[in-house]
Amino acid sequence: MHQVPLGPEYTDLAPEVVSDRIRAAKATLGSRLVILGHHYQRDEIIEHADFRGDSYKLAKDAASHPEAEIIVFCGVHFMAESADILTPDSQTVILPNLAAGCSMADMANAFQVKSCWKQLTELGLDAGTVPVTYINSAASLKAFVGTHGGTVCTSTNAPAAVKWALGRGEKVLFFPDQHLGRNTGFSLGYNPKTDMVVWDPFKPLGGNTAEDLQRATFILWKGHCSVHQRFTVAQIEAARAKYPGVRVVVHPECPLEVVQAADENGSTEFILRTAQNAPAGSILAIGTEINLVNRLASENPDKTIFCLDPQICPCSTMYRIHPTFLLWALENLVAGTVLNAIRVPEEVAVPARRALQTMLTITG
Ligand code: SF4
Repeated sequence: MHQVPLGPEYTDLAPEVVSDRIRAAKATLGSRLVILGHHYQRDEIIEHADFRGDSYKLAKDAASHPEAEIIVFCGVHFMAESADILTPDSQTVILPNLAAGCSMADMANAFQVKSCWKQLTELGLDAGTVPVTYINSAASLKAFVGTHGGTVCTSTNAPAAVKWALGRGEKVLFFPDQHLGRNTGFSLGYNPKTDMVVWDPFKPLGGNTAEDLQRATFILWKGHCSVHQRFTVAQIEAARAKYPGVRVVVHPECPLEVVQAADENGSTEFILRTAQNAPAGSILAIGTEINLVNRLASENPDKTIFCLDPQICPCSTMYRIHPTFLLWALENLVAGTVLNAIRVPEEVAVPARRALQTMLTITG
């Protein structure tokens, strides 16, 4: 979908005017509206959010407020799709800027995944392979796993989802994030060198031999998060040298060697709780998106919290939800015009919902 550019009546506004007008539009819309803000959004967005969370928590927050007819999702496209899938038709999900995608989610599309499945089928491997998609993926991929007996997973429940898949088949096709797949397999005792292969969608058989694919337990899609792939072991070593006793906490979208060198790893919500629950005086080096790390630092002034990456590492696509886009969407709603509604077609939503419900059944 194409995002129309905003005119100077929005782009030329001073930040405080934008903020005041967002508040006014929000007040006018009242309980008809819920604004969701992903943890990686900038503070100027988060100040207007009714709920903050990671993608899955926010989708559940949307579903638990049926009185709100409009859900404005300040996150990226796949998140708004999940919220639309999990909410009734009476609720409309709006993404303030349609250009806010996710580079990781874009690394696997339905055409490529179907082509991969066809190649596995030609090798006779489809029957024993269970597809698992990370929630950071397009609705069409969730629909694919729903159609082929697989499940969705989050960074929290990936080990449970993969165990479930391996209880139903001999192999897991995991997409789109190779790192979450590899970290999960490793945590379950699998060897990345002998039990896992990487599927490159631009090469025949994903760049593997038929024997490689027959032998592997994990077929990991060649995708990654451009934010979390930046973290390195050298950064962890530098943090430990500068702050003896530092606790290093990273996201499992980071490479395996980084996760292994860290003290702990877990989802965005896990990182948040770890920082909040750390005793006063703690020093924490965090391997995740900079807006969240900076917010954790300012909300926990009794602790030293910093980002492992000394360079700024925002999620550039999340950053496209500029406050002027939020204002534009809200003021149009006040005027009775619904813009940027995300509607997943029923033929995609039904199997995608099945895959999300399978995940809920697995994790309870
Ligand atoms: Fe996608 Fe990574 Fe940005 Fe999350 S942080 S939205 S996975 S690019």
